[in-house]
Amino acid sequence: METRQRLTRRDHVVPAKTTESASLAARLRPAELPVTELPGVGRHIALKLARLGIRTVQDLLFHLPSRYQDRTKVTPIGAGRAGQQVVVVARIEHTAVSFGRRRSLLCRFSDGTGAMTMRLFYFTAAQKNQLRQGRWVKCFGELRRGATTLEMVHPEYRVTDEEPKIDGAEGLTPIYPSTDGLGQGKLRRLTGEVLNRHLGRVVELLPGSVLHELDYPTLQEALQKIHRPPVDTDTERLYAGTHPFQQRLAFEEMLAYHLSLRIARQRRRSHLAPAMSEDRGLLQVFLRCLGFDPTHAQRRVIDEILADLRRPEPMLRLVQGDVGSGKTVVAGAAIAWAIDNGSQVAVMAPTELLAEQHYKTIAGWFAPLGVQVDWLTGRVPSGQRSALMDKLESGRAQVVVGTHALFQGVVRFQNLGLAVVDEQHRFGVGQRLALRDKGKTAARMPHQLVMTATPIPRTLAMTFYADLDVSSVDQLPPGRQPVETVVLPETRRAEVVARVHAACTQGRQAYWVCPIIDESEALEVQAATETEADLARSLPDLRVGLAHGRMKAQDKEVVMQCFRNGEVDLLVATTVIEVGVDVPNASLMVIDNAERLGLAQLHQLRGRVGRGSEQACCVLLYKPPLGLDARTRLAVLRDTTDGFEISRKDLELRGPGELMGTRQAGLTRLMVADLIRDRTLLPQVERVGRELLAHQPETASALVSRWVGRGEDYANV
Ligand code: ADP
Ligand code: MG
Repeated sequence: METRQRLTRRDHVVPAKTTESASLAARLRPAELPVTELPGVGRHIALKLARLGIRTVQDLLFHLPSRYQDRTKVTPIGAGRAGQQVVVVARIEHTAVSFGRRRSLLCRFSDGTGAMTMRLFYFTAAQKNQLRQGRWVKCFGELRRGATTLEMVHPEYRVTDEEPKIDGAEGLTPIYPSTDGLGQGKLRRLTGEVLNRHLGRVVELLPGSVLHELDYPTLQEALQKIHRPPVDTDTERLYAGTHPFQQRLAFEEMLAYHLSLRIARQRRRSHLAPAMSEDRGLLQVFLRCLGFDPTHAQRRVIDEILADLRRPEPMLRLVQGDVGSGKTVVAGAAIAWAIDNGSQVAVMAPTELLAEQHYKTIAGWFAPLGVQVDWLTGRVPSGQRSALMDKLESGRAQVVVGTHALFQGVVRFQNLGLAVVDEQHRFGVGQRLALRDKGKTAARMPHQLVMTATPIPRTLAMTFYADLDVSSVDQLPPGRQPVETVVLPETRRAEVVARVHAACTQGRQAYWVCPIIDESEALEVQAATETEADLARSLPDLRVGLAHGRMKAQDKEVVMQCFRNGEVDLLVATTVIEVGVDVPNASLMVIDNAERLGLAQLHQLRGRVGRGSEQACCVLLYKPPLGLDARTRLAVLRDTTDGFEISRKDLELRGPGELMGTRQAGLTRLMVADLIRDRTLLPQVERVGRELLAHQPETASALVSRWVGRGEDYANV
C-alpha cells in the first residue's frame, strides 16, 4: 500500500525515471506498475492513456491491435487511389513552405509512376531541412485528393539518403484503438517497450493442462504475437480473429466473465433467505381456481421454483418461455407459496400498462382468497402513496405490483421474501438489484424470480447466465394455433382495412400497432392518433379505441378495459402494448412500419394475438423499398412462430449485445472474444470455469480481476 501511495504522488512530479523507479519496475508485477514508470510517459500521455482505460503496464499489454497493415507491400503512386492506406517509396523533388489559407510544408515526390504531395501543418526547420531534394522517403498514410496530385497529410514517414530496402521480415504493423493526440507511433513504441521489458513477468493463469488440451500457446507468446505478428502469420485467420493466439485470449476473457458470474452466484448463496417450507394449502386453492389445468411444463417449472423457495438461500431463477406460454401462472404459484409462508411479495413490470394488467390478474386470483394486493406506480397520488408505504412497512400489504417506481428510495417492506420481475430484458441489472436490496437486511435477501419471453440459447445460458438458474416453460397451453403471418407493402393498406372490418364484424377484435418513427415517442403518438382518426373514418361501423404512452393513466385504463370487455373492436396503439397485454378474443394484429422493428419486438407484439382458440393472423405492413436486413427479419417472422428459433436468428442478425440482459451483464465489454464467432468455445469455458472454481479459487479471482477489471463491484452486482 505504501508503495502505491508513493507512486501516486510521483504522478504529479515530472517523471524523470530514476534508478529507484527502475528497480521498482523490476519488482512490481505489470498489473501493479503504473504507466508513468515507462520512459516517455509523463502526466500528459498518462491522461491520454487513461482515456483508453490504460493505467498499468499490464493494461498496455492487453490493449490489443484492432487491425493490422501489411507495410511490406509498396504501392506505386500511379496505382494509388484516394482513400487508400498505402506505403509509398519515392524521391523528393521539391520542398517548400506554402502560405495559403494555412501555412504548411509541402513536399512533392515521385516514384516514376506518378507524383504525390506530403503536407505538414506542423513542422520544424529541422524537418524542412531534412526533406531535401534528391533524398528518399518511405511514407505511410491515407491518400487524399489534392489540388494537383494525390496528397498525404501528416503521414508516418522516414527519410534516407539511399533507396530504402523493404524489409520482408518487418511483419504486419499493428493498428491500435487510440484517442485524440495519441499517435500510432507512440502506441507502438510503448507496446514495444512493455513487450521487451515486462512481458516476461505477466503471469500465466490458465492451467497447463488446459493449454495442452486446447492446444493453445502460452499467454506470453500469444500477447507477443498479437502485438507483433511474425511475417509468416496466417493473415486470413488473424484478420478473422480466429488465430490460436487470439482464440487463447478470447477463451481466457470468456472464462474470466464466466467466473465472475459463478462467484456472484456463490456470494448470493452465502446470504440467507427465508426458507419457505410450510404448505397451508393456498397454492392448491390457487391452482383449483384457475379454471384450467397447468401444462406439464408449467408444473415442472413450479416444482423447480418451490424447491428453491424451500431452501434458506436466495433464489435467482430465470423463467423463460415463449409469449403466451403462461409464465404469469407460474409466477402466481410462487406468489401463493410465498404468501402462505408469511412473506411479502413484490411484482415488477417494465411498463405501467403491464403493471396494471398484472395487478388485475393477480388481484383477480388472490383477492377472493383473502390476500391483500396493492399497486404502486409513479402516478399514484402522494396521499395514497404514503398510505401504501405504511401498509408495506407494517406488513399489511401482502402483494404489491408496480413499475420502476417500486425501487424509488422510500419504499420499505416489513418482510419482503419474493421479488418477481417480469420481462426483465427491459430492466437493467441495477434496477433488479435495487429491488433485491430493498428486502435485504444485514443477512437476508429475498428470493428472486425473473421472467422473460426472450429465450437464450442453452450454451450461452450456461456460460453467461451462470449467476442464475434457468427454467423453461417450453410448451404452449393446449388448443393454440400458430399465428398466420403475412408481409404486405403499404400500398395494399385498403385490403388490410377490409380484413380488419371483416374480422370485427364477425365478433372478433383487432390491434393496429403504430411503432416508433424516428425514435421519438411524440411522433409515435402522433402517428397513432392520426391512424386512429383515419381508421375511425373508414370504418364507421366499428368501435375504434386509442392507447398510447402519453395518455392519462385513467383514460388509457378506460380504453383497455373497454377492449378487454369487448366494447372496443379495434384498438389502435403504440408499442406500449408490446409486453404482456392479454385479450384472448383479439385475433388479428396489423403492424405498421414493421420494417423498423427488431425481431424480438415483432415477436412480442405478435404474441398479443393467438391467445384464444381462434386462428389468429398478423399482418406486417412495410414501406417499400425494403433493405436486405429488414427483408430477412420479416421473412423470419413470417416463416416461424417459435420464439427460440427467432431469438437464434436475432442473435445472428444483431449480435448478442441486444439479447436479454446481455448488455447489463457486461458482455458488450468483451474485448477479444465474440460470442457468435467463439460460441464453440462456450462448453469448455463452462467446464474449465467449474473446475477452476472448485480447485484453484485464487486463480479464478486473479482471472476475474485481470479481465473484468472492477471485479469486486461486478461480483456484487
Ligand atoms: P406469458 O407467458 O406470455 O406471460 P400469460 O401468462 O400471459 O403468458 O398467459 C397467456 C394466456 O394463456 C393467459 O390468458 C392465460 O390465462 C392462459 N393460460 C396460461 N396457462 C394456461 C393453461 N395451462 N391452459 C390454458 N390457458 C392457459
Ligand atoms: Mg407475460
